[in-house]
Amino acid sequence: LSPDEIQHDRLACLRDPRRLRHLKEVHRARVGDSLTLGVAGGGIGRGELTLLSDDEARFTFDGLDTPPPPPLPVHLVLALPRPRMLARSLEHVTAMGVKQITLLHTRRVEKSYWQSPELDPTKIHDHLVLGLEQARDTQLPEVHLAKGFRPFADERLPTLLEGRRGLMAHPGMAQACPTGLSEPTVLLVGPEGGFIPHEVERLLAAGCEGIHLGPRILRVETAVVALLARLF
Ligand code: SAM
Repeated sequence: LSPDEIQHDRLACLRDPRRLRHLKEVHRARVGDSLTLGVAGGGIGRGELTLLSDDEARFTFDGLDTPPPPPLPVHLVLALPRPRMLARSLEHVTAMGVKQITLLHTRRVEKSYWQSPELDPTKIHDHLVLGLEQARDTQLPEVHLAKGFRPFADERLPTLLEGRRGLMAHPGMAQACPTGLSEPTVLLVGPEGGFIPHEVERLLAAGCEGIHLGPRILRVETAVVALLARLF
């Protein structure tokens, strides 16, 4: 729910047609159902659906707890993966607590992926919300699309890394992925075909540390979860 859908302490009203449809068709909600309600950027609590019509849904709820505290500030910079994998990656990394995500173009990113309907802001929002619901969190991550940003030839790279530790995940690097970070970090993950050697050189020259996850080459969606699990 957005804060303006809260009518007062214990009552909320939802009129957005898309989310009403979602409530009926995806959640198959019925009057009397008990639900978990989260307020964007705010608390989370148990509620009951008291009315469900074509135009609105009403809920009563019994107070809001605070959402889980934000985890370490990790900015995930992810080379744009194939659409299905993007959807799952966004959901998983949101559930794990990432609040800043940049989708990046690199040499081995398939250009057609940038035309995918999965990049529609509504679709991105839906994937993020699935991740938040899973983790009982209410604070939406920010997602930036960096289609024109090339990490191997772009003066914005030092700005992206400024004041943060840069970690580039790349198989075969000498350093293992660190555990339990205590400082703001930018984590760079390559596309299905990996970073090309020139991108690796460019990122290392800009001050990134190259890190590995062991000898197994993981799919992008597995690699992001494995990396975050170690970093958190
Ligand atoms: N053939 C590509 C290569 O060797 O770079 C494989 C790319 S992998 C499918 C996609 C991305 O996941 C990589 O660019 C990297 O960021 C991350 N990744 C997957 N397995 C990894 C590993 N064992 N160590 C470090 N990063 C890994």
